[in-house]
Amino acid sequence: MDHRRLADQVLRGTPVSREEALALLSEDDDRLLELLDAAFAIRRARFGRGVLLHVLHNAKSGSCTETCAYCSQSALSTTPIPRHPLQPVETLLAGARRAHQAGAARYCLVASGRGPSAEETERIVAAVRRIKAELPLSVCVSLGALDEQSAAALRAAGVDRYNHNLETSARYFPSICSTHSYADRIATARLVKAVGLELCSGALLGLGERPEDRVDLALALRELAADSIPVNFLDPRPGTPLAGATPLRPTDALRALAMFRFVNPAAEIRIAGGRERILGPLQALALYPANSLFTEGYLTTPGQGLRADLALIEALGFHVAGLAE
Ligand code: SF4
Repeated sequence: MDHRRLADQVLRGTPVSREEALALLSEDDDRLLELLDAAFAIRRARFGRGVLLHVLHNAKSGSCTETCAYCSQSALSTTPIPRHPLQPVETLLAGARRAHQAGAARYCLVASGRGPSAEETERIVAAVRRIKAELPLSVCVSLGALDEQSAAALRAAGVDRYNHNLETSARYFPSICSTHSYADRIATARLVKAVGLELCSGALLGLGERPEDRVDLALALRELAADSIPVNFLDPRPGTPLAGATPLRPTDALRALAMFRFVNPAAEIRIAGGRERILGPLQALALYPANSLFTEGYLTTPGQGLRADLALIEALGFHVAGLAE
């Protein structure tokens, strides 16, 4: 496959086919740099050399009723993690101030659980109103499955974006969760779009899925017109059903990132959870297809820290981007 020709085709507006996307994943490591270079051409056309920083805030942690096999907050997990109910508005606001100080463009409020109660939605709405009144931050919220009323209330409060990951393909999803379906996730993703919120919906790679599942997920996200695609890499957590999973090879992770860029050329693609563990010294290469990262850690695991992330961005000759770029 001629990667540059395929990138030019994408830049002219012709989407890659399922077969082309699959072919990208079947190449060997000798062609990886060439693939990343072509993916970078697509990234650069839309996002230049900018890197958007996102900061996650674990607004409600643990004690979830759902059975997502990868998640240390699930009903099946025995992982010792912090557990707390939804934090008060002042705590959520304080987290936003810290994110702003760190140079983040987006602050992402995340709560465990199948979906928010009416009281939880109300509190998030109150927090978002305060954040938007005080700080020039884009706010992303991730609360699980939504109904129409909650989605509309979040939109009216000023939420910019809602996160609801598909994680994997429709075929593979029943292997990782038994308490809700892929169709449930798609329904929330569609609702998010229908009420006028930006959709953030992403992947978790390394669950035992096949290359076809990765491609089908990338295509499903294209069909949903996901504005933002966080790509997580499973960092198997002790105490979860996937504790013994074989970690993804870093070069497979990079090929998958490049494939996501080819399939979703205009989406903000973010290297997310597991990047330090899975990509290791190859982390920097991930910013050729991706244009965004989470800094300051994840929900229940630490990251390498803001200073190391800024050094990484600078060493590449990239820069921290503002929302307007
Ligand atoms: S619904 Fe969310 S918090 Fe609950 S187990 Fe699944 S991923 Fe974890």
